[in-house]
Amino acid sequence: MDRTIGLLGGGQLGRMLVREADQFGIRVVILDAENSPAKQISGTLEPKHINGSFTDPKKIRELARQVDVLTVEIEHVDTEVLEEISERGVEVTGNDGKKSMKRVEVQPSWKTIRIIQDKFLQKGHLEKNGVPTAVSESLESTEEALSIFGEKYGFPYMLKARKDAYDGRGNYPVRSASDIPEALNTLQSRALYAEKWATFKKELAVMVVKTSDSPGVDATTAYPTVETIHEDSICKLVYAPARGTSTRLQKQAQDIARKAVGSLWGKGVFGVELFLMDDDSLVVNEIAPRPHNSGHYTIEACAGISQYRAQLLSILGIMPSFPSHTISADFPATIMLNILGGATKPAHNELLRQTIATPKASLHLYGKESKPARKIGHITIKASSMREAENIIAPLIKTVDGIRA
Ligand code: ATP
Ligand code: MG
Ligand code: MG
Repeated sequence: MDRTIGLLGGGQLGRMLVREADQFGIRVVILDAENSPAKQISGTLEPKHINGSFTDPKKIRELARQVDVLTVEIEHVDTEVLEEISERGVEVTGNDGKKSMKRVEVQPSWKTIRIIQDKFLQKGHLEKNGVPTAVSESLESTEEALSIFGEKYGFPYMLKARKDAYDGRGNYPVRSASDIPEALNTLQSRALYAEKWATFKKELAVMVVKTSDSPGVDATTAYPTVETIHEDSICKLVYAPARGTSTRLQKQAQDIARKAVGSLWGKGVFGVELFLMDDDSLVVNEIAPRPHNSGHYTIEACAGISQYRAQLLSILGIMPSFPSHTISADFPATIMLNILGGATKPAHNELLRQTIATPKASLHLYGKESKPARKIGHITIKASSMREAENIIAPLIKTVDGIRA
């Protein structure tokens, strides 16, 4: 517990990680903009937080000098410098003025972050490791290449940016050949690939904890299989466990998620997004090498070991083992609802009043300025049945829908 953690990124995931770390007296030093959500709730004793970008090699080295383990709350970081720090070290000056190299653990491994941050490399890695994914091909940013993909796999298909994607910013659904110019116009500055349209009945997600540096499925433990509902490519709701999904399919999703995470290097918590296809087959959409929106429910539902506690304990090498390789929820049903920005202040205040007055509702606000479609908070309901949870959340969903931009 006396090791200091360096965190690249200080958004809401970092903020919830800091809250957990605080309970264990673990110090987390953050690299991100001044007053970012995680910094707002974390003290400024030595070593001090660093103001700057988590993509800036100089700032990352500055952080590394002060900590024992580096981890991320976002995958869009500079992995060249993470490789350098973990393999060769970072230069430090001792009290005697002598310079030496200090190696700092990076968890999960820079290799894992590098593969995951490029969604096309990630797809290739999963395929190579026998994990089913949506059919995809890299392509040139030309109208010709985009129409050839459409002719080969049919319309609609999903055009995706390989890097820096989140909340659907980087996706363009190409519904017909006439969408091609606008799709290119929107994403043309980025390296692209395309995915065959996935005809799914449901989107599922599984959080997985990995506890060894080398690949191996035995070092992985899965949280329950949840159902995610996206609107405009942004996660809106998470139902835990997934509704209307057989125990067999839930277990199959956990097994695929563990296999996917087991193919990667390093320790930590991972979010695995899956599609449950029309024919009941399961494919992995993508993996996040960090806590994930679909795992927020674990704060209330898996109180003994939320995804944030699991990230801390696994990267510090003190995660307890779960012989069944699964962690279960303490409640029969949980629903998480994201609060997106774009609303007027009075509308938000009404939502807050309503949530506080709702028994079994937990409100989380991230200290973020409200901007259209920005995740600024979430609400979790835990109940003794999914029907009860659905009844409790229904009026809150209505209010959230009313205040969306
Ligand atoms: P995140 O915020 O989860 O990182 P992202 O920007 O990386 O999102 P994806 O996860 O690739 O984007 O896609 C966002 C959503 O778009 C998916 O959850 C799904 O609803 C839809 N989607 C993605 N790929 C496909 C596909 N091949 N076919 C159909 N729908 C898709
Ligand atoms: Mg993504
Ligand atoms: Mg996604």
